[in-house]
Amino acid sequence: MEKIVSLCKRRGFIMQSSEIYGGLNGCWDYGPLGTELKRNLKDFWWRRMVRERDDIVGMDGSILMNRQVWVASGHEATFSDPMVDCRSCKSRLRADQLPEKDGKLHCPVCGSFDLTEARAFNLMFKTYVGATEDESAITYLRPETAQAIFVQFKNVLEVSRKKVPFGIAQIGKAFRNEINPRNFTFRSREFEQMELEYFCRPEDGVELLEYWLKERLKFYEDVGISSDLLHVHKIPPEERAHYSQGTYDIEFHFPFGVQELEGVAYRTDYDLSQHQKASGKSLEYFDEETGQHFVPHVVEPSAGVDRTVLALICAAFCEETITDQKGKAETRTVLKFHPRMAPIKCGIFPLLKNNERLVGQAREIVESLRPHMMVFYDESGAIGRRYRRQDEVGTPFGVTVDFDTIGENGPSNQGTVTIRERDSMKQVRVPIGELKSFLVDRIN
Ligand code: ATP
Repeated sequence: MEKIVSLCKRRGFIMQSSEIYGGLNGCWDYGPLGTELKRNLKDFWWRRMVRERDDIVGMDGSILMNRQVWVASGHEATFSDPMVDCRSCKSRLRADQLPEKDGKLHCPVCGSFDLTEARAFNLMFKTYVGATEDESAITYLRPETAQAIFVQFKNVLEVSRKKVPFGIAQIGKAFRNEINPRNFTFRSREFEQMELEYFCRPEDGVELLEYWLKERLKFYEDVGISSDLLHVHKIPPEERAHYSQGTYDIEFHFPFGVQELEGVAYRTDYDLSQHQKASGKSLEYFDEETGQHFVPHVVEPSAGVDRTVLALICAAFCEETITDQKGKAETRTVLKFHPRMAPIKCGIFPLLKNNERLVGQAREIVESLRPHMMVFYDESGAIGRRYRRQDEVGTPFGVTVDFDTIGENGPSNQGTVTIRERDSMKQVRVPIGELKSFLVDRIN
């Protein structure tokens, strides 16, 4: 994990928030490459969940909402974790995550057994809307994106003219004042979620839960997280939320343990019914086929963007020993991202930087590819070093413009470039005119 964190900082994937002021615990900034990676993940989720389907539409709700939303959803009363204090070192700890020694819970920081009783700590960030800081102005930064979907259910249903089963998808920020943020970005205080609320008839909920679990597992496969790194944890009935009729956690083998990436839950009609009761507005659906009015049930796949980005990096991280042309062994650090997720799709290199024709041709290729993908031009250092720099950030293809390309070695390879593939390090020659389609076919 240390190596991954250091690579993330060194190459501009993820940095500490407010670093020059000593940081802010639980908050992270994404640098140039991390931002691309995150964007690729969100775009692909949106493509799979919304654009490629007839039955799902998108929305983008506000982060601040009427306080009554959080009263009705149950968050104000119960969205809390059990907290204890260590009397010796004063650490604040999550009571349900304490290590045990000789059958007794103790402080993971100093080892002391002198802990306070657990008490509930509400995870929502409280704030005031408007100029008066009194009780009537209180609201919260949303701790999940889902509630905006539930409270806009009727409006979206009307404008989209969908029939059940249908879903509303959303990607956005969520905030939780976690007692103990840790494991890099895994548990942050500010993070992003990708959530789908899939509304259905009550009798279809159980089957749709299984359907969505399968769909979501396929998604991870399609972004390059192989199934052997995933684990499905079926939450036993006694541990599920009281309204849930089935919940799965999709977990990932992080270097720090097997931990949740996404929850897929059948939430019955709990959320819509709560908002219907509290707001006094009907959130029923009229079924034209049966002539019945009912509150739809919902299946919710809820994934964390940041946790998935971290999983993508952990799954891709690889150190290989390779032997160079002189027979010397060296370590190659590679991020073996799926080309679809890779922040930079293609590195473009003129063999020499002081040859105008090589540089001119390489620059022309850069301009022709730019509208279609993220590319990176690099002319400095030996070509092997340039390949390594791109390997380390997961660029799947490297294009080199050499003397064959510009016809200096005869006409046979003129107008062709070499494409080097990151994982196999194999090279093929491709005509410049075919470069775009070669790459586009592989990054989509
Ligand atoms: P955990 O048990 O790890 O706190 P949770 O079960 O409370 O998570 P949900 O409320 O189901 O999480 O949220 C859905 C998803 O949002 C999670 O699967 C996770 O990917 C993401 N998520 C939740 N809390 C955080 C956090 N503090 N930092 C980063 N991602 C988070």
